[in-house]
Amino acid sequence: MIVHIYSTDQFVLPLPPGHRFPMPKYARLRARVAALAGERMRIAPRATDDELVRAHSPEYVQAVTQGTLDPRAMRRIGFPWSPAMVERSRRSAGATIAACRSALDDGAGVNLAGGTHHAHREHGEGFCVFNDAVVAIRAMQAERRVRRALIVDLDVHQGDGTADILAGDDSVHTLSLHGRNNFPFRKRASRQDVELEDGTGDASYLATLRIALDRALERGPFDLGIYLAGADPYVGDRLGRLALSKAGLARRDAFVFDRLAGHDIPVAVTMAGGYAEDVDDVVDIHFATVAAALERFGAGSQPGRCSMTLAEVGR
Ligand SMILES: [Zn+2]
Repeated sequence: MIVHIYSTDQFVLPLPPGHRFPMPKYARLRARVAALAGERMRIAPRATDDELVRAHSPEYVQAVTQGTLDPRAMRRIGFPWSPAMVERSRRSAGATIAACRSALDDGAGVNLAGGTHHAHREHGEGFCVFNDAVVAIRAMQAERRVRRALIVDLDVHQGDGTADILAGDDSVHTLSLHGRNNFPFRKRASRQDVELEDGTGDASYLATLRIALDRALERGPFDLGIYLAGADPYVGDRLGRLALSKAGLARRDAFVFDRLAGHDIPVAVTMAGGYAEDVDDVVDIHFATVAAALERFGAGSQPGRCSMTLAEVGR
């Protein structure tokens, strides 16, 4: 009964030199997390076609898999197609499914990648191929482990793909807190959107989050939460436009975990974006998120369940 952490960096996405997607962050993050909690780490399973088509059109899943998306659709995603890209994308979605299972069993689960919230039903966009959060929620709903879910999307960019796929679906409440002047420039309406001005710093961000998350929780009860803990609201982010410090981001994570735990909502944590000049800054922020999740939900958080298991063994 322990919080599991799923990695996908073993499935490398081949990119041309100078590509701005920060691929090295995943291996560095895994190395740091392994030193802290190696016994909790697992290799992510692969999301199946059946799982993917609950969030995406079968035509899109097939075109991604077979490499038949047209060049314009590939440019929109921002990665060159390769079989390894498909494998990586399936593993990343599978990691969030597995993190949800861990959350439902043990209170929390972590995907060291994921948060690909620009993936729409019919197309990918902005380094996002499959929408891991929606794929995972649909899997839990199909298994009847979850009826209603909450997505807390604190990546600095709006979760337009999530909003697209979940339009008209009352079973998932999405809160997206994002930069008004940032990508995507044509935003889709989530259940709850909060737009922030350029340069928003720790105090203002945290005050806004407090009000917004409490409002979201009023829409409960929720059986599961998925938290997109983007590192890109960081002041040093090249794409972020906000001005949060590392300490502010740590307070953000602690606040989200406290609130979800306070409402007995199991949480699957995904990393989402992070584009600081120095990739180690991104790794620092993601690592702090993982460490905070382990501290809040780690072994011993459900002693009642563990002792019950031991009692059952004794019987
Ligand atoms: Zn982002």
